Amino acid sequence: MRPPRFSARSEIAALKPYNSGLTLDDVAARAGGRRIAKLASNENPHGPNEATKKAMADAISRPFLYPDPSGRALVDEIAAQTGAEKSRIVLGDGSEDLLNVLARASLNAGDEVVTLFPSFPLHEDYAIMMGAEVTRIGLTSEFSIDTPALLKAAARPVRLILIANPMNPAGLWLTPKDLDALLDAQHPDSLLCLDEAYVEYAAGPDFASAATRLESHDKPLLILRTFSKAYGLAALRIGYGISNSDDVIRAMNLVRTPFNVNAVAQAAALAAMTRTDAMDQAVAHTLKERARMAETLTGMGLRVLPSKGNFLFVDCGQPSIEVADRLIDHGVVVKPWKQEGYETFIRVSVGLTWENDQFLEALSRVL
Ligand SMILES: *Cc1c(COP(=O)(O)O)cnc(C)c1O
Repeated sequence: MRPPRFSARSEIAALKPYNSGLTLDDVAARAGGRRIAKLASNENPHGPNEATKKAMADAISRPFLYPDPSGRALVDEIAAQTGAEKSRIVLGDGSEDLLNVLARASLNAGDEVVTLFPSFPLHEDYAIMMGAEVTRIGLTSEFSIDTPALLKAAARPVRLILIANPMNPAGLWLTPKDLDALLDAQHPDSLLCLDEAYVEYAAGPDFASAATRLESHDKPLLILRTFSKAYGLAALRIGYGISNSDDVIRAMNLVRTPFNVNAVAQAAALAAMTRTDAMDQAVAHTLKERARMAETLTGMGLRVLPSKGNFLFVDCGQPSIEVADRLIDHGVVVKPWKQEGYETFIRVSVGLTWENDQFLEALSRVL
């Protein structure tokens, strides 16, 4: 019997499957017994500390209970550390969940969403899912953020301005001055959402989190954060949003599923946030290694964009799908970028020292 046919909503037809990368099992068969350097998903291979692992073990011992639907203990800690009001914090099953919730809570068909390009694909996908129109602000010919174009777009009454800061995959970021200019330029009818998935890696005088402006900003602002990157908890799926607007949080709470964050994830995130020793060490190692990798790659004659994330965006000068494919035979997984104009770029995560060495060695062979 032929399986029955069904047509999804018309907007869904425009979506492509998310490129979630290869798993270790996918790669093992081709890596010929080598250790595999998994550098395609910006995970933190250092992982969480012992206190976090213990909190997870404790939480999993009561699997029959529903989790706290509002994650009070964790929300209290997020409020204490970010300065956000407790009532203006929303938890998500990863920040990807919150991007989906945000799209469903805010976008009508035909609404305009402004993003930076190259972009985190889900920033566009969920807008398209809702039938919204995406306006991409591309990089300049020098591969920097086109701030004048961004400010001009932000000044229009678009529905949503959704950008990652630092950007994924480019690694670029808004300086504090550019952030303030964007907050100034924002049209009061627009919601500005800054996805700060990499904020822990971005500290320094040339970067400011929008959280430092939350209190004083008089237009709708939403900041998204995740425990998947620097906190090393990608498997658990947990992130959060903080806002200066009760309306934004109310809408997102209505749209999200009531128990969207499981109890193990809540407990782990709280423990990881309470004692940040492992995270601090992982970030320090990553920043050192990022500089070393950038220097080696530049020495190989490749263009490497400046990055404040735990990854580098590298122009290989040849189709990156082929480069990434050849790297697999050397036990190295990176993400070939597929968006228009960036088909020769790979995004490589900064991993453990041996992983980075294996990547650098393999890339020089492959090129
Ligand atoms: C990795 C990443 C996320 C996803 O985070 P999860 O919390 O794992 O869903 C969100 N936004 C950006 C820009 C990312 O790079």
